[in-house]
Amino acid sequence: MRCWDVDAVFISGLENVRYLTGFTGSNGAVLITGREGYFLTDFRYKIQASKEISVYKIRCCNRLLDGITKLIVKTDIKRIGFEGDKVTYDDHSRFREKLPDRVLASLSNELGRIRIIKSKDEIKHIRKAIDITNRGFNIAAESIAPGVSEKDIAGLIEDEVKKQGAEAVSFDIIVASGYRAALPHGSASSKRIKKGDFVVIDLGVTYKGYNSDETRTFVVGKPSQRQKTVYQVVKESNVKAIDMVKPGVRASDIDAATRDYIKRKGFGRYFGHGTGHGVGIAVHEPPFISPCSKDILEEGMVFTIEPGIYIPGWGGTRIEDMVLVTDSGPEILTTTSKEMVVV
Ligand code: ZN
Ligand code: ZN
Repeated sequence: MRCWDVDAVFISGLENVRYLTGFTGSNGAVLITGREGYFLTDFRYKIQASKEISVYKIRCCNRLLDGITKLIVKTDIKRIGFEGDKVTYDDHSRFREKLPDRVLASLSNELGRIRIIKSKDEIKHIRKAIDITNRGFNIAAESIAPGVSEKDIAGLIEDEVKKQGAEAVSFDIIVASGYRAALPHGSASSKRIKKGDFVVIDLGVTYKGYNSDETRTFVVGKPSQRQKTVYQVVKESNVKAIDMVKPGVRASDIDAATRDYIKRKGFGRYFGHGTGHGVGIAVHEPPFISPCSKDILEEGMVFTIEPGIYIPGWGGTRIEDMVLVTDSGPEILTTTSKEMVVV
């Protein structure tokens, strides 16, 4: 806390709360002072908290914010760091009202990065989530056919991954076929799959609180020349980006190389999102592999590489892998083949 120039830190984002305490419920906050660590929750989670949390003193209160201010008021803490991107404007105002003589300092950037390096156990959970995701893609490959709706495919995938031990899907499964494949985030609709469609499937699952995130693009029937070209460019850009991964590399340089390659091949204006993002307790977390990222890669980071080409009215392709930074370079955690799958 010294390096952040604060005397205490108040954490209310559930991802960081889980990371620090192991608490899996939906309402909790942490206050860490120089000497003590407190965990606050409401009555519903009293028993659960006592089972899941060991090193923090547990306090039950109706409003977490009131509980936190009550604890602070008894101390000589002057500066309190908090997650500016998690606390609402109303709560911040209330905080200031109750503690007018204390200084609140937003540490969004710093606290947003405490989970950036993954431990062996975290990587183990992520690998398991990826393994389950793989099963989902196997079912997709077996089920995609002309006449089947995107929602049907999403339903089959979801049933399978839950059967295989996923706690939940990390986000609404994206199944985007034909012209809808040009929507980078096209959640499964009632559209029926047709011969000649590209089908983009983006799937993430949660296992022991950790997520996976993977995209594969299928082709229904014989691919056209244009489909082959687009797929090849996306695949090459994915491989080039992954090859650059090693400690010390700037995330923005990976993004630039990926973007330049797609541009050189003539599809630059069809790739409008970042190249990748960290994955862990949150599906989207630092580091960010994007043009404005300041992140420098370090051993133990886990993130996606997910270039895509999206052509309005025609369709698109995305290939998304998860990568671990090791001291000797990239380790691709995703196990599904990235060759074009014709179904
Ligand atoms: Zn994804
Ligand atoms: Zn992603």
